[in-house]
Amino acid sequence: MPSFVQRIQLLGLTLIIILSMAGCGKTSQAVASSTQGVFIDANTVAFLQREFNETVTCTQLSQGSFNDLSIIVMPPSFPCPYYATGCSGEFDEPNLVKIGMFSSWKHEMVHYLLYVNTGDPDTYHKSPLFQTCGAIVAG
Ligand SMILES: [Zn+2]
Repeated sequence: MPSFVQRIQLLGLTLIIILSMAGCGKTSQAVASSTQGVFIDANTVAFLQREFNETVTCTQLSQGSFNDLSIIVMPPSFPCPYYATGCSGEFDEPNLVKIGMFSSWKHEMVHYLLYVNTGDPDTYHKSPLFQTCGAIVAG
C-alpha cells in the first residue's frame, strides 16, 4: 500500500500528465488554419537551386536554367524504364526531372545540362562529368 507521500507524488504526476495532454488536439481554441496538402518548403527550393548552380559551375555547361525545369517529387524509389528495382531520380527530355532522393539531384542535373548543351543526356553515363561533379549514378 502506498504511503501518504507516495500517494501525493502519484497524484502530482497524474496531474502533470493530464495538464501536459491538454495541448493535444485542441478544439476549443481558434488555431490558425492552414491549407491542407503536400508542400515543398522554400528552403528545399533554395537547396535545389544552389545545387543546380554548383553543377553548372562544375560541368562548365552554361546553357540551361533552373527556372526552365519541371520538378516532380517522388517516393525514394519509383518505377522507371531504366532499372527493374526502380529509380531515385529520372530526367526526361526536355525539362522534366523526377526526384525521389535529393542525393540524386546533381546526377539528374548533369543529364539535363548535357541534354541542353549537347543534345544528348548521356543515358548510359559515359561522360566523366557524372564522376567529376560529385553526381552519383542513380538513374
Ligand atoms: Zn543517370
